[in-house]
Amino acid sequence: MRRLASAPNLLIATLWADTLRAAGIEARVFSRYLSSIAGEIPPHEAEPAVWVLDEADFERARRLLHELRSPPRLPEWICSGCGERHPAQFAACWNCGAARSP
Ligand SMILES: [Zn+2]
Repeated sequence: MRRLASAPNLLIATLWADTLRAAGIEARVFSRYLSSIAGEIPPHEAEPAVWVLDEADFERARRLLHELRSPPRLPEWICSGCGERHPAQFAACWNCGAARSP
């Protein structure tokens, strides 16, 4: 059994473990009930941690978790008015003010 990562809270730890299990990796959340005594022990000890039961799954689990933690990358768009490139979250061109073109 190997510790994969600590999560900021139990909800996220459970989500990670569920996602790993859905991918066929046996995972458990520990430190489940420690948050009630946070303050008496170092904070990182109180955080729930996800553990992978089978060492052989560890690398795959680590990659899956990495994907889970990084937001999906949306494609850039290019303004039809001036050719400026924009990250996906912008709805209008900051350069010429044109609305985003599909
Ligand atoms: Zn533009």
